[in-house]
Amino acid sequence: MSEGAGAARVTLLGVCWDASSSYLRGPALAPPVIRAVLASDAVNGWSEGGLDTRAAGVLGDDGDIATEQGDEMRRRVEASVGAILARGSRPLVLGGDHSISYPVLRAMRARHPRLAILHFDAHPDLYDELDGDRWSHACPFARIMEERLADRLVQVGVRTMNAHQRAQAERFGVDVIEMRNWNEARTFAFEEPLYISLDLDVLDPAFAPGVSHREPGGCSTRRLLAAIQDVRATIVGADVVELNPAADPGGISQWAAAKLARELAARMAS
Ligand code: MN
Ligand code: MN
Repeated sequence: MSEGAGAARVTLLGVCWDASSSYLRGPALAPPVIRAVLASDAVNGWSEGGLDTRAAGVLGDDGDIATEQGDEMRRRVEASVGAILARGSRPLVLGGDHSISYPVLRAMRARHPRLAILHFDAHPDLYDELDGDRWSHACPFARIMEERLADRLVQVGVRTMNAHQRAQAERFGVDVIEMRNWNEARTFAFEEPLYISLDLDVLDPAFAPGVSHREPGGCSTRRLLAAIQDVRATIVGADVVELNPAADPGGISQWAAAKLARELAARMAS
């Protein structure tokens, strides 16, 4: 549960869920792994911008949600994120596979009548269904846009578009910045409160091999950090999803996931 009487500015919530993964299991193992790196003596808690995320009142922790039932997972995630927002804190959700972002956004939308999403991913995750599953981790942004849980969705780093997903992107008015067209000089800016959804597979597998769907041709850790540090917006919530500790040679990728989580926490706390 969260520490102390006053609400921390940012609150971690782990979702140990990978039953909506279409290829490999493993992301359910990620939340405790990322937490352990965030607390590790191998690193300090300071963001590159100069905020100590280990200082009192910065980063609270509401623990993990673990269940094998999809309906229960979605209900508990929505309720838990709603509780974080209700106490005036900002959620930093650790997945889990990407299907967890849908119930997170339901809770975000209930508190934010204006909301944009900046979504970093090798994949658009816009399938209407995959293998008969509408809750698949390949589908969350179709559900989110159908329910109008955001006014604007910007996807960055995509490099796996097919005809169906391209049609879905057009149908929902998604602004897709494919990896091949992502100009490094571009700074993202949003007038609406912003939610950042960060699928670790946006990184090139050379930087983060520990994901279920390795897609070469991605961005560097440095470039992704810069995009987060430079985004002009009020970041009101975020997730880091799809770290797969069961597919992470030498545990390399957990360090990237934790570093990105720390920088997101610092931006949200500032
Ligand atoms: Mn994804
Ligand atoms: Mn992905």
